[in-house]
Amino acid sequence: MVSERMLGLGTARSVIRELFEYGKQRAAVVGAENIFDFSIGNPSVPPPPQVNETAIRLLQTEDSTALHGYTSAQGDAGVRKAIADNLNARYGTDYTGDQLYMSVGAAAALCCCFNGLACPGDEFVVIAPYFPEYKVFIEGSGAAMRLIQPDPDTLQIDPEALAAAVGPHTKGVVVNSPNNPSGVIYTEETLKAAAAVLEAKSAQYGHPIYLISDEPYREIVFEGYSVPWIPHIYKDTIVCYSFSKSLSLPGERIGYVLVPSQVTNSARVYAAVAGAGRSLGYVNAPSLFQRVAAECCGLTSDTSIYERNAKLLVTSLREMGYQCIQPQGAFYLFLKCPEPDDKAFSLRARDYDLLLVPGVGFGMTGWVRLAFCVQTEMIQRALPKFRELLDSYK
Ligand code: PLP
Repeated sequence: MVSERMLGLGTARSVIRELFEYGKQRAAVVGAENIFDFSIGNPSVPPPPQVNETAIRLLQTEDSTALHGYTSAQGDAGVRKAIADNLNARYGTDYTGDQLYMSVGAAAALCCCFNGLACPGDEFVVIAPYFPEYKVFIEGSGAAMRLIQPDPDTLQIDPEALAAAVGPHTKGVVVNSPNNPSGVIYTEETLKAAAAVLEAKSAQYGHPIYLISDEPYREIVFEGYSVPWIPHIYKDTIVCYSFSKSLSLPGERIGYVLVPSQVTNSARVYAAVAGAGRSLGYVNAPSLFQRVAAECCGLTSDTSIYERNAKLLVTSLREMGYQCIQPQGAFYLFLKCPEPDDKAFSLRARDYDLLLVPGVGFGMTGWVRLAFCVQTEMIQRALPKFRELLDSYK
């Protein structure tokens, strides 16, 4: 016998992966240049040169037994200090290394938070559209996920929906900004309204409602927009970060959890995050890339192509008659389907070799997601296909 839940998770591919695999099979038939794969959020630009230079220097100059050896379970102390110092320089904070837990990307950071916080009967509120793995991670911690819809025009958080969803069993609320799959950045005003709701509810129920801020796209921000530092807005914020997107390192699996000292019961929360890391086997994030992250945490890849791609897609698709949400950061575009059924639209798009992820998996029907971390030239070649696809509805 095996766990039915794990069996289900292990055999069912995510819709995104399924589309990605379909793309590879189809490319073998029609040629890779004839497939327009907007399915997966894999950065399309290399890391900044300092990443490889640092890794090579460390490999060539450091004692390799130590370099590849175990670090502390929560990560190397020098690494955590360097990352805390970098955050302090950027946000005017006074974090210390012992508020950071190095993790295997944002995925493990989130799992450590959910498992560290969840008590029997707890719920976490998630705002659509959302990264589908949240459901897997939250349910894996024994908690339940409660989904709320955003403001339908802006996809910002709807404070009334939030207030209606938060109850006595709410342990936390997850926010992701810049957002996957919409590219929306929650404004300071939105976040302040959400914080006011959570403060009132925490007082009403007599326990803190934690805000878990999932920030792998924090530095991928387009002109005219900025990402507020959420711990400045809401005291009980725990940050989950990843270098996967900002430094184009998704395969190296490096990120962290930050539990600022201002968080209610911060020492207990941090210890519980570390305990969850222990229980899940997420101790000692990859040691070489901890060291690389410490030296490169002030850098980002050249993400200008994402902004160029966003502009090209938005202008061209709107000209054709599509409706979409203006991406403000990250590398995703949320496109309104010309029919209510996003799965049907995604299937029809396949006829034009356009691979678009249906919105239903992100908690919003009637939309598809395009990951535009692709070559601009591929977008240019895809545009006539988008026109044909829309014309097929006329
Ligand atoms: N959170 C969001 C919103 C994401 O988009 C992703 C990856 O795409 C993750 C978390 C997981 O990131 P990581 O690769 O660092 O585990």
